[in-house]
Amino acid sequence: MKVYFDNASTTQIDSRVLEAMLPFLKENYGNASSIHSFGRKARVAIESSRELIADFIGAIPSEIYFTSGGTEAINFIINGIAKTNFLETGKNELITSPIEHKAVLDTHKNLELSGFKPKYVKINNDGHFNRDSLQNILSDKTSLVSLMHTNNEIGTVNDVTHISSNLGENQFLFCDCVQAFGKSIIDVNKLKVHALSASAHKIYGPKGIGFAFIKSGTPLSPLIFGGSQERSRRGGTENVASIVGFAEAVKIAIIEMEINYKRVFELNSNFQKGIKQVFGDKISINTAENSTPYILSITFKNEYFHNDIDTFLMALDINGVAASQGSACTSGTIKPSHVILGIGKSVEDANGTIRFSFNPKNKIEEVDYVLGVLEKLGKHNLK
Ligand code: PLP
Repeated sequence: MKVYFDNASTTQIDSRVLEAMLPFLKENYGNASSIHSFGRKARVAIESSRELIADFIGAIPSEIYFTSGGTEAINFIINGIAKTNFLETGKNELITSPIEHKAVLDTHKNLELSGFKPKYVKINNDGHFNRDSLQNILSDKTSLVSLMHTNNEIGTVNDVTHISSNLGENQFLFCDCVQAFGKSIIDVNKLKVHALSASAHKIYGPKGIGFAFIKSGTPLSPLIFGGSQERSRRGGTENVASIVGFAEAVKIAIIEMEINYKRVFELNSNFQKGIKQVFGDKISINTAENSTPYILSITFKNEYFHNDIDTFLMALDINGVAASQGSACTSGTIKPSHVILGIGKSVEDANGTIRFSFNPKNKIEEVDYVLGVLEKLGKHNLK
């Protein structure tokens, strides 16, 4: 049996999405900037995709900027707002958290080299950001607060709705919604955000396409200079087929999001119940209550993985199970996950953490199979 429990990394493209894309790779291959009929078809497809996506999150179409994915959207938003707001107001402090995606963290590190001052909000042990800490580091100099919606390693869902009311004039809120978009309701008016990022390949769409929502009136400069595409804020010929595919994935999400959530919730609950029965206190679950059901992060005690989680993941793979480590692989060396360390766990615990992430097409039998494999490997390892 082959079981794919790594859906937070990426998902399999939905066949309906692929079908919707194909005409824009075959016969409708025009450049959306051309004025002839080929170009006009592409333009219409892009603009109707933009309208659909804008409507889905309560935005207006001109607030949606298509990008090459979540990472570019994040770079665009943080650089664009921080640099322009600094030029206009002199504000140079940026607030974020230590457990954001690397795209957010590394963009802050890079801006620090040009004189911006990142400040990091404290994280509670359950993975939520600490509200008092945020209050303490907000200042007149704060330009942008960047805090994620759903954490990609442990699944914690942060409530960002109250943050805007604590921000003054020329202070902005960005929320990375890559792991939440299309899986739970994201409404920019309820979240009260000035910007958000999303990506198609996490919701059965194609890889390499995402968008930035940026509320009109927010200070912003381009990240990619070139043609006048995306209202002169993101140069480059539009990826028409992928934009159409993204919109199709959203169309499907509009209909299936709720039922998908319930299915995945059931899978996750069964997995949690089963793994607790098999391993008892030899594991701890890092995913707090009220987290997304799509992600389950589990730390195995060292007596189980013997300082060698790679071999353990490989053994899972040999048994047909795809899961991922709560660690980032940087230049060939496995580093303990900054997220697991960020919620106060030890390096040993971070090294022993595995993320299982689900999709609604996964089956209960697959959960049972994976639990069986874990039990088998456990018996071997604990001998
Ligand atoms: N933000 C979060 C929370 C993510 O999980 C990811 C992808 O794993 C990204 C950003 C980057 O998105 P993309 O893969 O589309 O560049």
